[in-house]
Amino acid sequence: MKELSNIAQAVIASSTLAVDALAKQLKAEGKNVIGFGPGEPDFDTPEPIKERAIGAITAGETKYTPAAGIMPLRKAIAKRLEADCGVTYDPSQIVVASGAKHSVYLTLRALINPGDEVIVPAPYWVTYLEATKMMGGVPVVIQTGEAEGFKITPEQLQSAITPKTKLFLLNNPSNPTGMVYTKDELRALCDVCVANDLYIMADEIYYHLVYDGAFFSAASLSEEIKERTILINGVSKSYAMTGWRIGYSASNPVIAKVITNFVSHSTGAPATMSQIAAVEALEGDQSSVYEMKEAFKARRDYICVRINAMDGVSCLVPQGAFYVMMNLEALLGKTLGGKVIENGDDFAMAFLDKAEVAVVPCSGFGIPNFVRLSYATSMENIKEGMDRLEVFLKG
Ligand code: PMP
Repeated sequence: MKELSNIAQAVIASSTLAVDALAKQLKAEGKNVIGFGPGEPDFDTPEPIKERAIGAITAGETKYTPAAGIMPLRKAIAKRLEADCGVTYDPSQIVVASGAKHSVYLTLRALINPGDEVIVPAPYWVTYLEATKMMGGVPVVIQTGEAEGFKITPEQLQSAITPKTKLFLLNNPSNPTGMVYTKDELRALCDVCVANDLYIMADEIYYHLVYDGAFFSAASLSEEIKERTILINGVSKSYAMTGWRIGYSASNPVIAKVITNFVSHSTGAPATMSQIAAVEALEGDQSSVYEMKEAFKARRDYICVRINAMDGVSCLVPQGAFYVMMNLEALLGKTLGGKVIENGDDFAMAFLDKAEVAVVPCSGFGIPNFVRLSYATSMENIKEGMDRLEVFLKG
């Protein structure tokens, strides 16, 4: 048979799959695996949201919707963005998609020609790299480390720019690091983008989950910045709605039109009942958002104290999202669980094999000597996982 496309061959599967496959196998064997892997809240979707969707189905709201999403949802998104992020969009500038991941894909599709360069700070959410490659774009990675709080500087951004640079991918708060840019830091980065005529894709899906300090949306900083920013957001993380597949982009009208066209010829808008449920999420009582946030904060505080009290591992205290990056550098070359630890992949496999705890190796996020732990799991699991880590580290 003839070969698949060049792009098909360039895009790789998620690097977390090996650990994931072993975790699933152990669970199937009846083992009590503690999972710090999933990037999704362990909470159930709040009841009023579920009820609204069930009501929609019962009422026969089961037909196609406009490609860009139902108007009540686009209005609800515009209102929430104004209230929470201080940015004003007309509903016509908002395009609903099948998850923020889909909005990221559509944005890249709208902006990137083969050969265009896309600046991606590392550690990064792995989809940014692979989705860029799916467009024939060239990811240009700027490395940050723990010493810099996993933040890039305007100087680093400036020096990565070439005549081919089109777009800066800004993930704030960040998956996997949990870092949050201050207003001044954000403005300095956005100013570089304005000065160099770059688009900014601001993925702010964790904006509700900022535990220390304030969150600032890139598009709120100035009209000039907003004009070139494609804001990405969704209901997955804030409302425990990962499976409903509702994300959105907000952008200037020209880009919004292009993204709408793409949706109309591909997925044709997400499920109608999911869109209706999302209206309830955004317009209804917001107290569950704050309850979940408080629970995440307590878990973050606990897990960081436990990690930093152990010999051989450490972490920065993340200010947002629900991930913590565990530094393994002091363990490299040591034998744990019968395996010599050369990097995060070795650690994750040995930890799972020996202690039945699943963590995500960060090689796929561009920082191989770390593993990521998601604390979107119960306090009970976190305590048990940390107890097992303590034993495991003793060799
Ligand atoms: N952006 C970031 C940074 C994420 O971590 C995720 C989920 N892992 C998404 C976007 C996608 O979220 P969804 O497609 O569920 O809306």
